[in-house]
Amino acid sequence: MIYLKTPEQIEAMKEAGRISAKVLRLVGAAVEPGISTKELDAMAERLFKAEGAKPGFKGYGGFPGSICASVNNQIVHGIPSKKTILHEGDIISIDTGALLDGWYGDNAWTYPVGEVTPEVQRLLEVTEQSMWNGLEAAKAGNHLGDIGTAVEHLAHKNHLGVVRELVGHGIGRDMHEEPNVPNYGLKHFGRKLVAGMCLAIEPMFTLGSRKIAYHDDGWLITTIDGSWSAHFEKSVAITDEGTIVLTTEPGYERPVG
Ligand code: MG
Repeated sequence: MIYLKTPEQIEAMKEAGRISAKVLRLVGAAVEPGISTKELDAMAERLFKAEGAKPGFKGYGGFPGSICASVNNQIVHGIPSKKTILHEGDIISIDTGALLDGWYGDNAWTYPVGEVTPEVQRLLEVTEQSMWNGLEAAKAGNHLGDIGTAVEHLAHKNHLGVVRELVGHGIGRDMHEEPNVPNYGLKHFGRKLVAGMCLAIEPMFTLGSRKIAYHDDGWLITTIDGSWSAHFEKSVAITDEGTIVLTTEPGYERPVG
């Protein structure tokens, strides 16, 4: 069942979203060669606390970290670890979610560690732009398939793999609500988007195969062929007056639609 949110509820979600975005921005700014993903996790935990929020991922389904930290060929759900040290030329996908007053925010970004190869830089740029394209398609009157079509368009043009097993989702009082928001689709197909829907849109693209591998810790998901992958995510609220990006901060907005 899809839970439509009232304008008041969307206001509350904006605050959870703002905190998710702020923590992501500050943790992302700390990404540098030599830092461990555990250090980034500890930093996020402090930042969530300072904002009066809880790290939404910690304990979610038993996840041990405050952030997901996924390096290079890791697509999502990397568990932060002292042993995972970032090196020049790596990329790291950081996923932060805040829980505030019973509402979730959820967003992710892939950061280069120092300088990356032109091929990897292109992966980051195309995946980010595809997220923005998906956000623009997320408006009342469109369909879920319009989001998927918008997201996957540039990936195909650039011969990137589009992960299909992992998808975006509704968000609200739970981190993952209905509907699923695939990063592929058919124009005008799928459920119609209506005011009150809150969705997390999150393309995951790879430089190789779109196939994924699950790992023994029960969390980590990597590409099956070792190719590197990028992940960009923002949460939005669809309203009759336009689409609101929930996971953003004053001064850092980028207009959508
Ligand atoms: Mg998500």
